[in-house]
Amino acid sequence: MKRIKKTSAKLGNADKALIAAAVAAIKERYRDDWQEVGAALRTRGGTVYTGVNLDAYLGRMAVCAEAVALGRAVVDIGDAGIETIVAVRHPPPHEKDQEIKVVSPCGVCRELIFDYDRNARVIVPNGKMPTVVPIADLLPNKYNRGTER
Ligand SMILES: [Zn+2]
Repeated sequence: MKRIKKTSAKLGNADKALIAAAVAAIKERYRDDWQEVGAALRTRGGTVYTGVNLDAYLGRMAVCAEAVALGRAVVDIGDAGIETIVAVRHPPPHEKDQEIKVVSPCGVCRELIFDYDRNARVIVPNGKMPTVVPIADLLPNKYNRGTER
């Protein structure tokens, strides 16, 4: 795996707690082929929201765990920004030797996270110990319609 150097930082205790919240969410709701990813985000006000992915028979209807966590936050308290966000993957039963691990947000989630907080911190895998990077580092040349400056 390519290591991230740029502006990554060591995890603080709050970051570790956020990973633990995402792990707890997917441990609680794991269902093979349906719920395999957990996410947790901390708003700018310090509230933590968790989510799990919603897989679907029609794959295009699937929703990522990060989006579910963000949706819960928006419904509950409105757009309160994303101070930090993380997703973790629960291994399927045939990967018994694997652990729940931090995973990078997919491209769509990178767009979503940036849209809701362009200064969000994202916890990503980095060898043995995850690290935290600004969302902008994960999304160079972000999509725009050409009308924004
Ligand atoms: Zn995603």
